[in-house]
Amino acid sequence: MVDIKSMYKPEVISFMEEMGEKKFRATQLFEWMHKKRAASFDDMTNLSLSLRETLKEKATLDTLEKVQVLESKTDGTRKYLFKASDGALIESVMMRYSYGVSLCVSSQVGCAMGCSFCASTVNGLDRNLTAGEILEQVYGVERDSGERVSHVVVMGMGEPFANYENLIRFLRLITDPEAGGLGARNITVSTCGIVPGILRFAEEKIPVTLALSLHASDQAERERIMPVARKYPLPEVLSACDEYFNKTGRRVTYEYALIDGVNDTDEDARRMGELLGGKNCHVNLIPVNPVDGKEYRPGNASRFKNKLENYRINATIRRALGGDIDGACGQLRNRNSGRD
Ligand code: SAH
Repeated sequence: MVDIKSMYKPEVISFMEEMGEKKFRATQLFEWMHKKRAASFDDMTNLSLSLRETLKEKATLDTLEKVQVLESKTDGTRKYLFKASDGALIESVMMRYSYGVSLCVSSQVGCAMGCSFCASTVNGLDRNLTAGEILEQVYGVERDSGERVSHVVVMGMGEPFANYENLIRFLRLITDPEAGGLGARNITVSTCGIVPGILRFAEEKIPVTLALSLHASDQAERERIMPVARKYPLPEVLSACDEYFNKTGRRVTYEYALIDGVNDTDEDARRMGELLGGKNCHVNLIPVNPVDGKEYRPGNASRFKNKLENYRINATIRRALGGDIDGACGQLRNRNSGRD
């Protein structure tokens, strides 16, 4: 079976030409999949019945099945639980802001990175998502809600740079005016700091915002909460982010989950000043969200923000949305342990 929703338009054209179809049929198919967000080949009514049948035999749309939708009573945030064709379960979180609808998508089923404060990694990595499955989170939520997703953050389950090729495919398709149609400026990709990924990403010429999960301003402290830091030390990570800014002109966001007594002391703020003070960047503070089985408590974000401002660091506090439905940062979990 061909994974047709992950294909670029020229690839869809070759695939259709190999089946003896005209190029304009490929264009119609591409439009149905992307522009019209069609859920099935049967919906593609201007394709002949026989072509639709052939497509069903040869290609899969990787449409995700909606298993559950939870809506926050406090802020209207919705958490979607989707099932992929192999049974893998993933989550996406839809947030309503004054500027539009933002969707937090997962890039992997589970995660191998092992950050100590995050639920997504508790059961390890199951598999990568295809580009079509990442796209389908956007399209599926739009079909279900009847609302248009205007912003995408790749901050759900998984480490996007550990699924690099599929991430790039997803980004090229979602920003293609003939496909997803979203502006690159409305997209953020968040990484735990995989240096070769950041450097390669800087060359792709996809002007999205890069967010780095910093979470500590000291190498030893970062290693304690983020095992990936052992492989990619802080100075290398920060210089890769500078490179991203230099190559793309896009200001990098540094995410910092405040954990009481762990990374929220005055000394932490002072070291942040040394690392980031005066840099053209932005720090996003997130009071750590509770995760089952972890004893971390949230740190005081407004106090830390004031400290950072003394060091000429531009900081904002991220509003925790969807906390009552375990839809907040770090609360999406891999439920697939034991799946065959
Ligand atoms: N793997 C990527 C993207 C997924 S996590 C990354 O590490 O950036 C999205 C953001 O939520 C990251 O900054 C992550 O560190 C943060 N996060 C994880 N667990 C959290 C928690 N319990 N509370 C607050 N933020 C958390």
